[in-house]
Amino acid sequence: MSRIYNFSAGPSMLPLEVLQQAAAEMTDYNGSGMSVMEMSHRSPVYDAIIKQTEADFRTLMNIPDNYKVLFLQGGASTQFAAVPLNLMKTGKADYVVSGQFSNKAFKEAKKYGDVKCIASSEDKTFSYIPKVTPDMVRPDADYVHVCYNNTIYGTKFPEVPNVGDKVLVADMSSCITSEPVDVTKFGLIYAGAQKNMAPAGLTVVIVREDLIGNAREDTPTMLDYKPLAENDSMYNTPPCYSIYIAGLVYKWALKNGGLTAMKERNEKKAKLLYDYLDSSKLFKPTAEKSSRSMMNVCFVTGDADLDKKFCKEAEAAGLSNLKGHRSVGGMRASIYNAMPYEGVEKLVEFMKKFEAENA
Ligand SMILES: *Cc1c(COP(=O)(O)O)cnc(C)c1O
Repeated sequence: MSRIYNFSAGPSMLPLEVLQQAAAEMTDYNGSGMSVMEMSHRSPVYDAIIKQTEADFRTLMNIPDNYKVLFLQGGASTQFAAVPLNLMKTGKADYVVSGQFSNKAFKEAKKYGDVKCIASSEDKTFSYIPKVTPDMVRPDADYVHVCYNNTIYGTKFPEVPNVGDKVLVADMSSCITSEPVDVTKFGLIYAGAQKNMAPAGLTVVIVREDLIGNAREDTPTMLDYKPLAENDSMYNTPPCYSIYIAGLVYKWALKNGGLTAMKERNEKKAKLLYDYLDSSKLFKPTAEKSSRSMMNVCFVTGDADLDKKFCKEAEAAGLSNLKGHRSVGGMRASIYNAMPYEGVEKLVEFMKKFEAENA
């Protein structure tokens, strides 16, 4: 068996141990005589899986009891609509636009009310995180929305933005479980699972209980947090298999020291790559230093043909999916929790060799 180092931004690498366990349990889960893919979501054996997955996720993220965890479908993009439908009680919300996904969230929310962009980094192609202060927030806004880690541009909020006493909503699709976060600073956190937690098809929402039950009348039932929460994510069939894999990934993270250890590992990997980028004469990192993401590292040579050559040769060397997002070009190395340190070492070695050959 030969595994490559997969730097894809998502769907992305999963821990090998998790894949091996899933493979071992594929045709007969725990003596049930069937795969997790085949069992009823209402069966006692599946009930135990989803309950344990939620319990482990709560432990991992240190989620307080007054927050609900929802395992949903539709991707993070569906939450772009669900958030305003559920949270815009007075019809006003403020958005920080720090990249493409936050811009999409902003545009979607505009369909439902008076939505304002209070800060943006579009002036410098989203290469930095704009400053947010409480006085920028409208006093009657229902919430402030941010994208915590910008997957396409490789930037991340260096700290939780200060929005005073306003409800803070964060899209954490590409950084969830990469480091500890103080959940109590957020009213709602959502994430598509396919970057750092599971296969595609699962979206996780962590929502403070007092924010549930205020959805607009015309909210589709499947987007209303109330019936979803009241039915423990089983209003309809949940993405059963992705939830099961997420459960294995949470167990893997807990066994490996939880989010404090994940943060240490991720910092070490990111430092190795950024230190080289800062010293390289060929490659340039594109994100401003103070806004750098530990998960998505973006860089360019400044020559589109050379970028292409790099990606092609890297692919041949078993370093896969390094091409930047189609809208920005260049390169992007996504180094989520499951990327081992050795993968980043191999990448840096390869980059040094490429630099020497193409000087
Ligand atoms: C990938 C991503 C999305 C889109 O997620 P889908 O699950 O494909 O809808 C949204 N926000 C961020 C930050 C992402 O990285």
